[in-house]
Amino acid sequence: IKNIAVLTSGGDAPGMNACIRAVVRTGIYHGRNMFGVVQGYQGLINNNIIPMNARSVSNILHMGGTILKTARCLEFKEDAGMEIAFKHLKEKEIDGLVVIGGDGTFTGAKRFGEKFGINVIGVPGTIDNDLYGSDFTLGYDTAINTVIEAIDKIRDTADSHDRLFFIEVMGRDSGCIALRSAIASGAEAVLLPERETSLKELITKLKSGASTKKSSSIVIVSEGNKYGGAYDIAKAVKRKFTHYDTKVTILGHLQRGGSPSGFDRILGSRLGFAATNALINGESMKMVGLKGNEIALTSLSEALSGKSNYKLEDDLLEMTHVLSI
Ligand code: ADP
Repeated sequence: IKNIAVLTSGGDAPGMNACIRAVVRTGIYHGRNMFGVVQGYQGLINNNIIPMNARSVSNILHMGGTILKTARCLEFKEDAGMEIAFKHLKEKEIDGLVVIGGDGTFTGAKRFGEKFGINVIGVPGTIDNDLYGSDFTLGYDTAINTVIEAIDKIRDTADSHDRLFFIEVMGRDSGCIALRSAIASGAEAVLLPERETSLKELITKLKSGASTKKSSSIVIVSEGNKYGGAYDIAKAVKRKFTHYDTKVTILGHLQRGGSPSGFDRILGSRLGFAATNALINGESMKMVGLKGNEIALTSLSEALSGKSNYKLEDDLLEMTHVLSI
């Protein structure tokens, strides 16, 4: 491997910059030529591939977002788009590619690697924590902390006014952010895509809290749960339970931003360092992840297909019920 390019793709996540920095500096340390692709796969197609040196990544470790920008690129899903992308890499004699992103990004990387034989290593960068082969994805810890900080603020006003709040958090079809933030913020209930909680059960829980003099209640609603968004659920609950003044907050994209937590800076650095080292050591078509505090390599196909192996922790869910009585 002589020349390595790095790109970020799909949804941005805090810690991506720490990872880019680690990828670039590890490659330079080992005498490789390093490149950054601007705007993910779109940048490959547009030939927006820039040389990077150690100073190109100065002062970015602590920054949210991604200095390389990210994009969703439909053209890359077509063979013709992939061929243009490959041509541009070939012109620069780039023989190694690090892609930082989520499952869509890995699906593209897998097809691209299989088709053209380019060496590809994936880094799991998504706040959703929904990839198999890494206990944590980049940005997840920061997102949880952001959500907790927001809920703490909402709790102040909820408590002062005797209010019931429905707070919608991100995660697509993964309830990881919702469950963790429910525990850390002492939420009264959490609705997850992985579990069915009946409205009746939810209302019973809220009534029990009200009857034991809870002055506020918070329900975390993960996007992708079966009842729809927080507004739908608030409306349905309000029809049957009127004890509290009911409000809804959708946290939205603020969950994707912000300076990465210490954990995500370290994770980004470790995964970036490991990704470049993996390429240099002749690895390809794999994802670098963290398993039990060790760097682990998982094939891209396993990282994608093993998703269904993930089991939401029942003990954590039970704990949210017990600790919020
Ligand atoms: P994420 O990586 O966060 O899951 P997306 O699902 O938007 O985000 O995927 C990011 C990009 O990966 C897409 O915009 C597209 O360019 C590429 N991609 C996704 N699926 C495929 C596919 N089946 N073939 C080729 N490229 C794909």
